[in-house]
Amino acid sequence: MGEGIRRERERERERKEGPSLLALLSGSERRSRGRRQTGRAGLRKRARKRSGALFAEQSGTMLSGSSLIWIGALLLGLEASLTGASDFQHHGYEEMVRALFAVQSECPYITRIYSIGRSVEGRHLYVLEFTDNPGIHEALEPEFKYVGNMHGNEVLGRELLIYLAQFLCEEYRAGNERITRLIHDTRIHILPSMNPDGYEVAARQGPEFNGYLVGRGNAKEVDLNRNFPDLNALMYYYEKHNGQNHHLPLPDNWELQVEPETLAVIKWMQNYNFVLSANLHGGAVVANYPFDKSREPRIRGKTTYSATSDDKIFRKLAKTYSYAHSWMHKGWNCGDYFDEGITNGASWYSLSKGMQDFNYLHTNCFEITLELSCDKFPPATALASEWLANREALVSYMEQVHHGIKGMVYDENNNPISNAVISVAGVNHDITCGTDGDYFRLLLPGTYTVTASALGYLPFTSIVTVGPAEAVQLHFYLKVQPKGTNLNVKAYANKKGTSTAKIPPTNLGPR
Ligand SMILES: [Zn+2]
Repeated sequence: MGEGIRRERERERERKEGPSLLALLSGSERRSRGRRQTGRAGLRKRARKRSGALFAEQSGTMLSGSSLIWIGALLLGLEASLTGASDFQHHGYEEMVRALFAVQSECPYITRIYSIGRSVEGRHLYVLEFTDNPGIHEALEPEFKYVGNMHGNEVLGRELLIYLAQFLCEEYRAGNERITRLIHDTRIHILPSMNPDGYEVAARQGPEFNGYLVGRGNAKEVDLNRNFPDLNALMYYYEKHNGQNHHLPLPDNWELQVEPETLAVIKWMQNYNFVLSANLHGGAVVANYPFDKSREPRIRGKTTYSATSDDKIFRKLAKTYSYAHSWMHKGWNCGDYFDEGITNGASWYSLSKGMQDFNYLHTNCFEITLELSCDKFPPATALASEWLANREALVSYMEQVHHGIKGMVYDENNNPISNAVISVAGVNHDITCGTDGDYFRLLLPGTYTVTASALGYLPFTSIVTVGPAEAVQLHFYLKVQPKGTNLNVKAYANKKGTSTAKIPPTNLGPR
């Protein structure tokens, strides 16, 4: 790409999203970053070839590769010693920021760093983005996110996401086909720490003395995974009254009721049309999927499975992680047993105002919660083997964003229709198009009846068969609704029970 085009693109980005954060680093920070890299770059190169070859080998043998994993541990251990011991150490805030910017400058054409806001104590919540055209949503290219360290004292996810960023950059540079393809076809957003203030509190205690609660909350000691607007009660009501099944509205003044970190993440979710996500925690080893909140919250001590309309997909997503993880799928971990290493959130214990349910109820994004280590703050000596246990799982899970169906919704003049609604017969959870008119609908293999509808247009229904491989493309061309007809696209019963629907349900699509 020419320098002129790059500068033009940079300016475009700055107009949209503010100045490049690299520019906000002080001169001395920039200089020290440069030194670290030149010191490491050459050493990394030597080790890179081996780990890349190993990874390619391992990807074909997801379940039977335990011996390879141990060989890999030895090799990566060697790599760590070559590239400086700091690779597998805990990263405080400054070190984390430095590590992210180092990746950005090592892989400038496929990465971008941006901040989604600041913590209570003013630390930036930095996101590192990986894709072929950073800063730009390309139609039909799905958006994916990883969030780590929401609980400040659960630190493994934060470290794994830093290593993942380094790994993606290095493997891309080494020509790893699988990683190159993933980066070209996906827009990956990595937020290693949602709660940098809590982390600093926990880190002051260190790994050995860390209790269950020290540093869990943010600087105001608020648990961020109990801080999102509660949309479940509204959803459970709508389920019974044929109400809206997606993008549930937020309560009035919700901005005043949440912490700055939560506010930043909600705005982030609203600004990007995320399709798939995972939230990395610690204190158990299990892949947990929605809903987290029980449908019968008043019965104390009783746990009941609380399924979403996409339960089978969520189970598959959770199993993708647990089986690609070295031991999560075995089930017995940290004194608990979870069949196949997965659990429905509510059937484990009911949790209100969590981030996972909020993703599903307010956006198009499917999120699961990954509990990754018994020890919330493992010693640095455990980090290399934890990375190897999680590496394949972290990559395989991202690849799941490419399943199901995707496509464009156009009008008769080939103009994309943003906010068109995509409904699948038999699934009581619609998704919507992004601003470019593209949609992404995760589905398991099978045959589906899919309807696209938009205000002012006639709905259109197609039948599509989804295979196990890449997402099937299914585009819709909607005709303008003739004058005089009263085809309300999505007319839902509202909470007071006074229906706004003027037409029989058969006109609302197959659902
Ligand atoms: Zn947690």
